[in-house]
Amino acid sequence: MVDARQAAYLQALGVDVYVPRDPVEPAWPAANAATPVARTVEVTPVAASPAYGDAGWDELRAAVAACQRCELHASRTQTVFGVGNPRARWMFIGEAPGAEEDRQGEPFVGRAGQLLTAMIRALGMQREDVYIANVLKCRPPGNRDPKPSEAASCRAYLEQQVALVDPTLVIAVGRIAAQDLLATETPIAKLRGKVHSFGAKAWPLIVTYHPAYLLRSPGEKRKAWQDLVYARQLFARLEREAASAGRA
Ligand code: SF4
Repeated sequence: MVDARQAAYLQALGVDVYVPRDPVEPAWPAANAATPVARTVEVTPVAASPAYGDAGWDELRAAVAACQRCELHASRTQTVFGVGNPRARWMFIGEAPGAEEDRQGEPFVGRAGQLLTAMIRALGMQREDVYIANVLKCRPPGNRDPKPSEAASCRAYLEQQVALVDPTLVIAVGRIAAQDLLATETPIAKLRGKVHSFGAKAWPLIVTYHPAYLLRSPGEKRKAWQDLVYARQLFARLEREAASAGRA
């Protein structure tokens, strides 16, 4: 069900809230469905880099700021480390900084960032409640796709960020981030709606569309809303499971 606040944010997203008149089988699990979500883990977790496995936030931030491990250091205005609650339960990971992010030093600003913020609010949170980072910490020139070698060079930083945050759920935002994090070339349409895993602790990860893509293809916003409903349901189940494990 969508409450009034979420309906307002969905309106901001440009998503019409559809309520079926007949109890047909939903194509997507409802947020309050009791049936557990099938957990489909497709990827072998990637071990954290030993180079940053013990680094705290300050050390990691300093390492990123000084990094010259790939050619992108030469063209950046500044590194874009990440932002948000360092102990967030939700972590959003995008692809790479764009021009505005490179200027401001913060991921997901500008129009795409505003839409991501609206998506986070649709989940019942504020932007400050979650942690937001990118696969790459430096902007690829001309907003080209990251090269695999660049993503590999930058991977240790992201893995340590995820380890420090230790989120309940990771959301890969967009095709590039999803395919990189999951080391796959599977199309994003086939990655959505499943629980994958990422990193040394096999953090649960799901996939949704990048807000920049949604701005170009507003007809896909409904699918993004489905992803958020799915995420909310899955998050609740993961938190319940964690609480039960703590009581056991
Ligand atoms: S993109 Fe990552 S690996 Fe490349 S220079 Fe920037 S921080 Fe270093």
